[in-house]
Amino acid sequence: MPKHHPSEEILMAYAAGSLPEALSLVVASHLTLCPACRAEVEAYEALGGSLMDALDPASLDESAFSSIMAEIDMLDSETEESAPWGGAMPLPRKPDMEDPSLPRPLRDYLQVDLTALQWRKVMRGVEDTEIELGPDGAKTRLMRIQPGVAVPKHTHHGQEVTLVLEGGYSDADGHYERGDVQIADPSVDHQPVADVGEPCICLVVSDAPMKMTGTFGRLLNPFVTY
Ligand SMILES: [Zn+2]
Repeated sequence: MPKHHPSEEILMAYAAGSLPEALSLVVASHLTLCPACRAEVEAYEALGGSLMDALDPASLDESAFSSIMAEIDMLDSETEESAPWGGAMPLPRKPDMEDPSLPRPLRDYLQVDLTALQWRKVMRGVEDTEIELGPDGAKTRLMRIQPGVAVPKHTHHGQEVTLVLEGGYSDADGHYERGDVQIADPSVDHQPVADVGEPCICLVVSDAPMKMTGTFGRLLNPFVTY
């Protein structure tokens, strides 16, 4: 069971179908591995379409968000109802058992399994392979880090979202294993070191080309309080 999860705001935006494609892929993949977040997204679905409309990035402001959160609090104490799915991707309903490594949403994107990927050497012990997604400006790639290798401090200029697929790594913030999601702000001292034993394979979304002053940036900021 993952210990590090996407924020409430990100899960809500995912349920509303308003996440950028790359981030949506991260969340969908996490959901296949995380029953707790699946249940949370299902609860957001139960809010219905009108509330999801209010989550449109163009209209999201703090007061709208506050009222939505109030409704969610009420919903928690009421009976659960199902609502039509309105998310960007089909919601995984049960753990993904077909492939030990790749969550189904990711496998569907790649069209191949891990062994067939073409890896590009980044530095000694670190390789990556880019994933072509829609033109939302985010850079999406898989990274493979050999056991015990430390990735140099990042040169990206925006936030970075990582989902661990195999192995694990540690940095100053904690230890991350399969299914865990880390949202790293560039101001944080972020130097991951892969666990010993097996290579660490991660799905990494970097937002460097994006302007992060909008909703996407706010959604990703783990320190934002509404
Ligand atoms: Zn989770």
